[in-house]
Amino acid sequence: MFEECRQKVKLLRSGKRAHGADSRIFFPGTVVDRVVRDWLLESPGDLGRMPTMVEAIMEREEELLISNENRVVKWKDSKDKAQVLADCAEAVTRIEPALMKYVVPYEYMVDYRFRTKLTVPVHGIPTELLLIGAMDILVRNPAADWWMVLDVKMTKDDGYWKKTQGQLSFYDLQVELEQGKPTIACALLQPMCKEQVKVVAMTEERRTELLSHIVTFATAMHDDNLPVTEKIKQCLYCDFKHACPKFAPVINAQGKKTLAF
Ligand code: SF4
Repeated sequence: MFEECRQKVKLLRSGKRAHGADSRIFFPGTVVDRVVRDWLLESPGDLGRMPTMVEAIMEREEELLISNENRVVKWKDSKDKAQVLADCAEAVTRIEPALMKYVVPYEYMVDYRFRTKLTVPVHGIPTELLLIGAMDILVRNPAADWWMVLDVKMTKDDGYWKKTQGQLSFYDLQVELEQGKPTIACALLQPMCKEQVKVVAMTEERRTELLSHIVTFATAMHDDNLPVTEKIKQCLYCDFKHACPKFAPVINAQGKKTLAF
């Protein structure tokens, strides 16, 4: 989000997300995540069960969005909900072999939430940060002593993984800080893509790049250097537009009411 628009980070941290924001675009991903999570917690290895879980989990997650987050799912038309249900059922059917191969045989934690300390220089002064996040699946092989992070993506875009490299590097860093060694692999489970298990290599170059991004982020937060983005495309579906200075009403030189940008 920081790369998309720094102002959005500021508004998020101030609790300014719009009430009743539409979650339709993210909803299939949430459903697939939850089906995988619940299956791994309740009945790993129960082959064929996941598609039968989809409908109830869709209903539950739609209600939770409204009651816990004040968000809604605006269905596109009368057939949209049934199509999402069918897509999610297909995705969890396809993902089962990967879960059986890469997760079920090992120790694992699902929806693993972390708060990990990291010290970085901000204007040359060592500054302690808290890395906060959640991983879909953290896998451990105690015999071989390795860790692996798996992230479930409900995308049909074969190139989507390129946008997730920063996210996976962040998980890799968290594992290194907490476990004293980095992951052996970070991978996307993307059952609707041609390459259903996409391993994203974690190189030293990528780790250095991530630390540099974290220092930039921490310095911007410290300096309150959080301007609005110039890319209007980022604003189209932004949940913070109502509170954003870019869209604040102003009076122009002709004395007319207009928007700041
Ligand atoms: S509306 Fe645009 S500029 Fe404002 S917070 Fe959202 S993305 Fe950033």
